[in-house]
Amino acid sequence: MQTLAQAVGPGQSNARHDVALVQAALKLIGGPQGRPYLGGRIDGGYGPITEGAIGVFQADHGGDAAPIAPLVITPGGNTQTNLARLLPADRRDLRVLQGQRVVYLGRPTSDANAAAQAIRVDPNLRPAFRARVADLVQAMHRAHGLVLSMTPNGGRRTFAEQALILPPRSYAGPGESNHNYGNAVDLGFNGTVWLQQDGHVETDNHWLSALERHEAPAATAMWDARDTIALRAPIGLFRLRFERIHLQEFDQATTSSGRSLAAHLTAVGAWNWQTSRYDRAARDWHYACDLGGTTGAFVAVGTTNQIWAGNATVTAAEIQSAGWVRPAPLGGPPGTPRAATPPITPADVAAVRASLQADFQAADRGWARWAPVP
Ligand SMILES: [Zn+2]
Repeated sequence: MQTLAQAVGPGQSNARHDVALVQAALKLIGGPQGRPYLGGRIDGGYGPITEGAIGVFQADHGGDAAPIAPLVITPGGNTQTNLARLLPADRRDLRVLQGQRVVYLGRPTSDANAAAQAIRVDPNLRPAFRARVADLVQAMHRAHGLVLSMTPNGGRRTFAEQALILPPRSYAGPGESNHNYGNAVDLGFNGTVWLQQDGHVETDNHWLSALERHEAPAATAMWDARDTIALRAPIGLFRLRFERIHLQEFDQATTSSGRSLAAHLTAVGAWNWQTSRYDRAARDWHYACDLGGTTGAFVAVGTTNQIWAGNATVTAAEIQSAGWVRPAPLGGPPGTPRAATPPITPADVAAVRASLQADFQAADRGWARWAPVP
């Protein structure tokens, strides 16, 4: 049981987190008749029901030593020691966040170490990033007894996996999410156990969905507790504005997902890439590519979803304008490839779309070489 921050009792500060902690203990400890000492709710409010329960508990087990007044529970005093001692073994590590009234159970260090280790050795996360996330898991446990872990799809996602995640869950297409490069994690509170006001326990998921429904400010306080550690030195990670569970290595405000992808495609693919425009309404980057052509002109090829699916928007006229070079036929005589000459055929358009798609496949395989571009 967490030590009270300040005293609880008549005339004491009775902060809601302290009162909730005392109420939770009195709710979980059976009295002489087998009933809990506290008949009322764990609501963080100090009143006659809580005071009466404290009185009965102190009559049974002794109060704080003189000169502490009866009914008063001081931090770490005799009453709190007795409360902590009499809690059921599996409910002993009662905790509460500052200013909150939802009491939760601290988890064993071994759980935190296992969660941290799984992240520390994940080959699909960038080494510098995963070390910081693992440190965060351990720092969070030291500070609050809470265990953070990655959601099942919360680490690196392949481009193919990213293509299956549609708006509004994610507006990022294949190659546009930090998750595609092992520098983002969805890191939540799976397995966190907290108490309903009637003392029943709830085991939550990564997103704290049950707590969010029960008492949203308590869930917000847990995310804030995570971010207080995660976003500051020495961890220094970044969050996104809306996706609360997500943490990443680079600041989205100074990193362009589109320009970073174009630079990455150019570095690992066969052709040169740029962004052509950003469609604000659809929240989509559009890309342009030189098709490895002889004129140096970049032509519009569409969005990542289009290119990844083999449906780049490039036209015969654009292929011509880029000076795309038709490859020599497979199995033909060795020699220099022929330059494309009009007309560009439907087969040529299909070949260009396949090559654009191939550059994306190379970018997926070469994910570890991605670097942020402003
Ligand atoms: Zn995420």
